[in-house]
Amino acid sequence: MLSEKSEAAAGTTAPQRKTKSTGDYHFCPSPSSSKRAEKIAQRRSDMPRSYQAKYARAVSGKSLRAAVDSFCLECMMWQRNEVRKCTSLACPLWAYRPYKPQQKLQTSVIHKNGDKNVA
Ligand code: SF4
Repeated sequence: MLSEKSEAAAGTTAPQRKTKSTGDYHFCPSPSSSKRAEKIAQRRSDMPRSYQAKYARAVSGKSLRAAVDSFCLECMMWQRNEVRKCTSLACPLWAYRPYKPQQKLQTSVIHKNGDKNVA
């Protein structure tokens, strides 16, 4: 049986790095690895064309906004309205999801007699 290090060197396992804080190993492929590029191309081809550019920005690592948007869209099968109506209130991305309904502006009317109506 090969050790983890020799398996990685032989290309039989995903590259791994040891984290400084915990010492645990985690999957960490190089952004330019051909395996990652292949997976990205596959995923991109499976999504609606209109979201492919956003996804490309997300996986480039240059836009957290695009990453959150893409994640939510994928979570809801690429249906904007479903993202808008997401009911998973405890999801860590809920407050940041795209296509949130616009909050109604509170308008208040103060009548001459001092009564206040809020619409
Ligand atoms: S906020 Fe809703 S749509 Fe976005 S990832 Fe979470 S559950 Fe999915």
